[in-house]
Formats: sequence, C-alpha cells, structure tokens
Amino acid sequence: MFQWRQSTIGDMLICPERFRRAHVVGEADMNSAASLMGTAVHEAIASGLLALLHNGEWYEPQDVARNALIRFQHLVAMDSLEQDPIPWREGLLDERINDVERMAASLWSQMPGLLERWGGPLSVEHTFSGVPLTPDGIKGQGTWDLLTDKHVLIDWKTSEKPWPKWKAAKKLQPLVYAQAVEHETGRWPEAFVFIVVTREGRVQQLPVNVNRERYRFLEATLPQLERMRLSNIYPLNPDSALCSEVYCPFYNRGCPAKQLKELA
Ligand code: SF4
Repeated sequence: MFQWRQSTIGDMLICPERFRRAHVVGEADMNSAASLMGTAVHEAIASGLLALLHNGEWYEPQDVARNALIRFQHLVAMDSLEQDPIPWREGLLDERINDVERMAASLWSQMPGLLERWGGPLSVEHTFSGVPLTPDGIKGQGTWDLLTDKHVLIDWKTSEKPWPKWKAAKKLQPLVYAQAVEHETGRWPEAFVFIVVTREGRVQQLPVNVNRERYRFLEATLPQLERMRLSNIYPLNPDSALCSEVYCPFYNRGCPAKQLKELA
C-alpha cells in the first residue's frame, strides 16, 4: 500500500510531474554529492548518539569526523559502480571530503550543548510506518533522526549555506513527524528543531511550530494529493520557483518544462 513520506508530499506540492518521475516511474535514485555528504554525516552522528544511548560512551569530534569520512568514501565507491555516476571534476572530491569531516566534527562538538538544551537521546534513527495522517486513513512513513527525553524531535540537515528562518517554518516534515511521534508514543512532541550544519561548519538551531492548527493544513491538503495520485494525472508545474536545473533533477533530463521556458 502506498504511504506518503514528507519528501513525496513535498515533491507533489512542488510539481506533480516531479512526483511522477521520482516516485511512480522510480527515477529518484540519482545520487548527488550533497545527498552522499548528508547521508555520511547523518550516519556518523547517529552512530555517536547510539554509542551514547546504549553504552554511555562519548565519541570525540575527530572520531565522528572519521566515521563520516569512511562512510562517505564507501558511498562514493558504490556510486562509481552506478550507470550514471557523479561526475567529480578535478579537486571537487577532495573538497567534499574536507566538507564532510568539517560538518561532522562541528556538529558533534556542539552536541553536549544541544543535548543539554533539547534533551538526551531516547530514540535514534527510528523508522515509522502506517501512521494515520488523516481521519480517512491516508498513511505515512519515514525515519526520525532523534527523539529526546524532553520529547523534542530533532532533525539534522547538511547545507551549503545557512538556512533563512522561513525555510524551516515552511517545511511539512515537522508536521508529519509530530503525528508519527504522537501515534507511536501517545504524546504530541513538545517541539521540533532543525539543526543545520553548513559546509563551513556553522551550526544553526531552528525550532519550528508544530501545533495542531498547522497540522490541520496538512490534513486538509493530503486528500487532494491522494486524489491526484489515484487519478494518475500529473501536470507539469513550470511556474514553480523550484522548476530549474538547480532544484529539479528532471529539468535537464527530458522534462518539457525546459523547452517551454526557453521558448518563452
Ligand atoms: S522540471 Fe519543472 S515541470 Fe519538470 S518535473 Fe521538474 S519541476 Fe516539474
């Protein structure tokens, strides 16, 4: 049975054609340098938190950086076996290796303060599924990065640049995850916080409002998205601000929107 993820909801809202190509046709598996970096940092942070949670062991920032580097190199090696591997231009891979180490070490060096403020680890990299997102039974799935013992949800993000505040506030992910936390623990989370680490190693804490009023927006929107999915009609949305070669992986891969824009 199809279940919505925060990413599939986001793709459908940006552009139904983008949703179709990524999640119906299944062209979502394209790696990018940014996605491999994000995965490596996430996994290194998660393994540090799991060591703390299960053994009370505190990793040093350089240990977390090394774990991120090993994971990144593994992901790059796996990607090189793909049909369409990332084209690393001269020197870029070395730059990205430095970025991965810097991001992991910077984030982990701030971890004591973050955990003191938001709470210690209670549940790390938890996968949820079958979460009722609407009263008529539309279901959701995903994986949360960290739920703390203060009942705060934390999500790590790696980013080239610092996030403006509006970016965190506009995300639907906190609402989907808040609903999942309530479904699994019986309690709506106290807060949702994006912790963003930039390639330069700056760490931002961006709390997001996850009250139930905001959730009702998602509850009202999802049935419309589900009807579109079931009807199998996926219009292009070339007017989206994210319809560009920078933000849409399909722009340079045969989407007619590119031609439309070039003719305009
Ligand atoms: S290029 Fe534009 S129209 Fe095409 S899938 Fe992406 S967002 Fe949609």
